[in-house]
Amino acid sequence: MANPENKFADNVAGPFYVDDSCIACGICETEAPENFKLSDDGDHAFVYKQPDNDEEREASIAAMESCPVDAIGDDGE
Ligand code: SF4
Repeated sequence: MANPENKFADNVAGPFYVDDSCIACGICETEAPENFKLSDDGDHAFVYKQPDNDEEREASIAAMESCPVDAIGDDGE
């Protein structure tokens, strides 16, 4: 379960976030490329844009459910 207290500082503000348990596997970027990406140094993924339509929301939820270490959280709105 992702912990909002441990989220990376580069997540944009909003419900979805990546916390420091991320292992940079890249699955979330594949599932929701409009919302998640890996940091330039490849250390971790982060939310660079919160989903703003149903398609992106569904993709972000799929990313969250696909994350092998449960590093993605959704605080709701
Ligand atoms: S799917 Fe999870 S572990 Fe993989 S890069 Fe995304 S947040 Fe990190």
